[in-house]
Amino acid sequence: MVRNPPPGPDNREFQMVGVDCSIIMNPKVWEASGHATGFADPMVDCKACKARFRADQLLFLELIFPDVPESEKQNFLICGSGSASEILEANAKKVEKLRHAKGSFTTLSGARAYTELSEQGRKEYECPECREKGQLTDPRAFNLMFRTTVGALDLIQELSDLVGVTYLGPKLAGTMQVQDVLARLKDTQAYLRPETAQGIFANFKNVMDSTRVKIPFGIAQVGKAFRNEINPRNFTFRSREFEQMEIEFFCHPSESRMWYEYWRDVRKAWYTSLGIKSDKLRPREQGKEELAHYSCGTTDIEYLFPFSDEPQELEGVAHRGDFDLKAHGKHSRGDENAFAVLVEETKERFVPHVIEPSAGADRFTLAVICEAYSYDESRASPEFMKFHPRLAPIKAAVFPLVAKDGLPEIAEPIFREIKKHFPCQYDAKQSIGKRYARMDEAGTPFCFTIDGQSKEDGTVTVRNRDDASQIRIDKSRCLEYLRDQLHL
Ligand SMILES: [Zn+2]
Repeated sequence: MVRNPPPGPDNREFQMVGVDCSIIMNPKVWEASGHATGFADPMVDCKACKARFRADQLLFLELIFPDVPESEKQNFLICGSGSASEILEANAKKVEKLRHAKGSFTTLSGARAYTELSEQGRKEYECPECREKGQLTDPRAFNLMFRTTVGALDLIQELSDLVGVTYLGPKLAGTMQVQDVLARLKDTQAYLRPETAQGIFANFKNVMDSTRVKIPFGIAQVGKAFRNEINPRNFTFRSREFEQMEIEFFCHPSESRMWYEYWRDVRKAWYTSLGIKSDKLRPREQGKEELAHYSCGTTDIEYLFPFSDEPQELEGVAHRGDFDLKAHGKHSRGDENAFAVLVEETKERFVPHVIEPSAGADRFTLAVICEAYSYDESRASPEFMKFHPRLAPIKAAVFPLVAKDGLPEIAEPIFREIKKHFPCQYDAKQSIGKRYARMDEAGTPFCFTIDGQSKEDGTVTVRNRDDASQIRIDKSRCLEYLRDQLHL
């Protein structure tokens, strides 16, 4: 996507630049982007047990027992987070007890979210953790950015000192110092970036000034981003630190729809080209009501993971209009047109529109692992990984059939040649079947085996992971064969 992007619409070439921006940036960047105020999840606390829940994940299911009168049904509410089946499973004991007492039930279709409950309802419903009734607070916005302090402020030390002052001295002195600490905290707080995109916008002018790019062009970044997730879950799918891959593609407003459609299609094709070919990969164009106010289109590329009932987002390709560059212009220079570009020939000045493909590298990796997992009872190792050869962590293995009779002397030079170019392993121990099985489990697509015939005619066998088929090639062609198979 960066060094060798596919040709653009109408077969035009265009430029891409890679950058590596800071993780801790000036906090004003996050004011300009809206993250300082808007990047929040609604949280609910239990006043009794201090447990904390994401309000939009806290769901209440109503169990309907056909033979029980309407007035009693509030007794049959269960709550938790996750899907309806997950809530039922987490409450299996209670559900079983009820079923025993009242007969069979149906769950109300569609669980009710905490945020939809009336004030009265909130009083009636119990905490999923400690089961106390009426202890859950109203939802409060909780910013997802990872906060840190820059400079010599040890907040815990400062506050610990204050605790002593508040107990020993006059109340007023303590209060003043709390304000003082808060003021210093506000001055020194910074954030770990919650996305890589804003570093690109903050460096837009640096890139324009220091490279010879012309609109349309893209800036790309791969790197760590951080979110203070309350509820990390599903293996590496939702975690507090994650690897993002983002492109901000800058174009003329009149061409932005064309480039949006281009990137939407190019990014879909990227996933299938790397082996995610099953119908579990599902691109989904967002409906008008889901779109941000500045956007005229967003496509989510989703994957149906085995741990989920619903497809989950791997990547979003968003048309962001001129929202970001205008917001940064306004905040940093007091002029929303500060980052306008000038077209020499026509003297036209405009703020570029942005198309943003934004992908989670960890999520893609998890999808690759799910997609590659294969099971075949007839094989020595029934579980094996069918990685696309380009993504296989080990590309090849070199095995002398036995560790004697002059076979290692033929195998070692082959290994040395391949490992200069590709991750490759050498193994001379145990039966050949065991060595193949081990490579199947690691998803290694090709094994080169040197046997007695190699000494006679200079050929080696190439064993293919997917169907265990074997062919013979000349020992001098191993590296070339690997290159061909990887389409390099
Ligand atoms: Zn509780």
